Amino acid sequence: MLFQISERVLRVLKAITEPREAIKDVVKEPAHKSSVFRGKHNVRYDICTGCDACNKICPVDAIKMKPLPIKRPNKVPEVNLAICIFCGLCEDVCPTKPEKAIKLSGGDIEMITHDGTHDTLENFWVRVDVPEEWIE
Ligand code: SF4
Ligand code: SF4
Repeated sequence: MLFQISERVLRVLKAITEPREAIKDVVKEPAHKSSVFRGKHNVRYDICTGCDACNKICPVDAIKMKPLPIKRPNKVPEVNLAICIFCGLCEDVCPTKPEKAIKLSGGDIEMITHDGTHDTLENFWVRVDVPEEWIE
């Protein structure tokens, strides 16, 4: 018993005192990539009809519709990834064919900003890249 305790104490002391390099730089390389990871969204304002279906079906209210001063689409979805649970319902329900106007990117796992920090919540939004003059 005493031997086991001293062995554990020694192990902890060794872990504290011996500097070790990180095995992986998670800023440059993701810690893991699941084969079923659905990734963040791609939104195409050019084919979106502004039907609001993605916004209505989202179970966690992660989508906000951005109003545009044009007739069609008069609004496009933007996604708050800090709230999103990546269920994919927004993509499933999107009616545009053959391409979905909102689509989870699958392979895109880059959720960290260029300098590895999340200094503002703005970093978690998937913004739609519509021309400036279209935005209300
Ligand atoms: S993936 Fe799910 S939780 Fe995320 S925005 Fe789409 S519907 Fe909402
Ligand atoms: S992304 Fe699809 S579901 Fe969402 S508003 Fe546009 S067309 Fe409708």
